[in-house]
Order: sequence, then structure tokens, then C-alpha cells
Amino acid sequence: GQCRVYCPTGAISIKTHTDLVWDALADPNVRVVAQIAPAVRVAVGDHYGLSKGRSVMGKIVNALHRMGFDEVYDTSFSADLTIMEESAEFLDRIKKGEKLPLLTSCCPAWVKFITDQYKDYIPNLSTCRSPQGMLSAVIKEYFRQPEHQDGKKTVMVSIMPCTAKKAEAIRPNSFTHGEQDTDIVITTTELIRMIDNFGIDFAPLDPEACDMPFGFGSGGGVIFGVTGGVTEAVLRRLTKDHRKESMHEIAECGVRGDEGIKEFSVMYEGMEIKICVANGLANARKVMDQVKNGEKEYHLIEVMACRRGCIMGGGQPTRAGARTKALRAKGLYNADNTMIIKKSDENPLVVELYNGLLKGKEHELLHNKSYE
Ligand code: SF4
Repeated sequence: GQCRVYCPTGAISIKTHTDLVWDALADPNVRVVAQIAPAVRVAVGDHYGLSKGRSVMGKIVNALHRMGFDEVYDTSFSADLTIMEESAEFLDRIKKGEKLPLLTSCCPAWVKFITDQYKDYIPNLSTCRSPQGMLSAVIKEYFRQPEHQDGKKTVMVSIMPCTAKKAEAIRPNSFTHGEQDTDIVITTTELIRMIDNFGIDFAPLDPEACDMPFGFGSGGGVIFGVTGGVTEAVLRRLTKDHRKESMHEIAECGVRGDEGIKEFSVMYEGMEIKICVANGLANARKVMDQVKNGEKEYHLIEVMACRRGCIMGGGQPTRAGARTKALRAKGLYNADNTMIIKKSDENPLVVELYNGLLKGKEHELLHNKSYE
């Protein structure tokens, strides 16, 4: 994508977003920080002849370090923060019986769909920022602290499966202290181009771990990239039962699978909670029209604007056939399967953040101002 036009000599030149990243990497006074969304890790390997859908997160981290990124963090960490905030907001609305159904807010194309076309439902949108927004705000705040500052300016680069995330980053209602938190958004395709331009032989790279303290998400954070993942992570958060069996039960409740519209209910403290998970905006329209005319009633509606969720985002490498689509979803569920920590509230880094940096700043850093 094109970003800014500048004209030092009168000859107009246009800088792409990847040019801006290269500029930041070349500037010794800048700390360049990356965050990598869940869906990116299962779409890069394919391009380099590795098995389709396999997570190559460790190789991506290695490649970014080689290019000169100072810190590399995992957006599934802030997906955990989104789950914490959104679950609390959901329970609060259930208790008060207001602004239901709660509409998820992590997909910017869906948020725009509501703010443009279903204005009556704007108050129903969760006030939570997306994982991209939350992580950039937290990181900027962290490096604002004198002990972490180092006299450098922080440039936040987010690597996303999605072109709509570029628009989300400049949406003023998601700014902190009036400033944009995410400086540059590049897509998975742009990342691949950067890796190739830098001359990195990607396939044989050894895996590397993300940096601390924002380098680790729970299984719940990782499955955000596939339709139903947000809801499944919320349900994990709401259950008090931590056993493996109950995680399996949640996975089987109807939340998984690639149907365009899924409906199911779960019991929470004696109450039946009705949930709808939709993917693709045509399906979202069907759901919203039924809600509007009173045909359907839900407590929670999750929508991802892309069919199957972010794994099939507009910034992912194209020409994914049915097998690739299925394998990307499987890649994220597999990544979750190998996680010791499944629930967002059990992520020790999340607990630490709430007790430290975030204290008293939850609203300022993790929530959007009005959508109107
Ligand atoms: Fe972006 Fe599509 Fe994911 Fe929405 S579902 S956040 S538009 S990739």
C-alpha cells in the first residue's frame, strides 16, 4: 500500500509501507518493534515450500531479528488482553441486561460495517480495542517509562493478515493521548517481500523465541486467527473449571468449523447464553437483519469479515485452495494444542501486566473512545 507522498526536490516520489519500515530500521535513533498476528504464522511457510498451514512463527522471529528489528512480540499476547477485557465487559452487560447482544470489535472491517450500515447497533460494539491496538498502546507506554526509554523513539510495526488493519491503525478513536499507537502496518504478503528483498533464505532458518515481556500468548490468544476463536477464548475465560476435559467440551460446543453462520448456547451460572458466530459480511448482514427484525435474539455475536476468519484475510498470500484453508485453521488449532496455557487469565505475563504497567490505565490503553 502507499502511504505518504513527499517531495524534497520537486520530483514526487511515493513511499510504500515497507519503505517506511526500511527507513525506520536504518535509523539508529529509532527502536523498531514488531508484533506478529496469529494468522500470519500459518501462511508464510507455504511460500517457501514448507508444509501448508504449519506455524513458522519461530522462523519469522529469526528473520525479523536479522533484518534489524529490536524487539519482536506476539499479538496473541494482546489477544489475551482483549479476552480479559471483553469477557469482563460481557459479564457486566449480562448483569445489567444492557447493550446486548455484545458485538465483537477486533475485526475493523466488521466494525466499519456496523458504524456505516447498522448505526442503531453502534452502542452494542465492544469498546475493547483490537489485539493490534492493545499491544501497540501497551508497548508505547512501556517504552515511555524512563528506565526503558534509552533515548530512542519507538516505531511500532504490526504484521497483519489484513489490509483493513491499516485503516484501523489510523482510526482516531483508538489513539492514546491523541497519538497513533501503531505506526506502520504491513501485510503478510509485504512481509514475504521484505524477507525476499533482504536476501534471507527462509526455509532453513532456525526458530527463535519472541522477546520479553510481551512474547507469549495462551492457546486462547492464538486461535483468534480463525472464525470462532474469539468466542472460544471468551468461553475458556468464563469457565472456572481448568481441566483439559472442560477445554475439550468448549471446543465441541459448536464454536468450531467453517460454516458461515453458527448458533449455539452455553450455560453460565444457570443462565442460557445464546451465541452466534458468523464469518463473511454477507453472513453478517443476514444475522444483523434477523436480530433487527426480532427473529433472532443473542447475547454475543462474533463476526469476522473474511470467510473463515483472519487466516483468509486480504493481506495473506492469495490462491489458497480448500486444502490450504483447512490446513491454516488446523495450524492454529495445533499451535493451541501444544500450549501448556490455554486460558488468557492463566498467562503469567498478562497477570503481571495487570498488576504493574496497566494498573489504573486499563481504560486509557485498552479501550476505544466512542465509535460515533
Ligand atoms: Fe482483517 Fe479479515 Fe481478520 Fe477482519 S477477518 S481482521 S478484515 S483479516
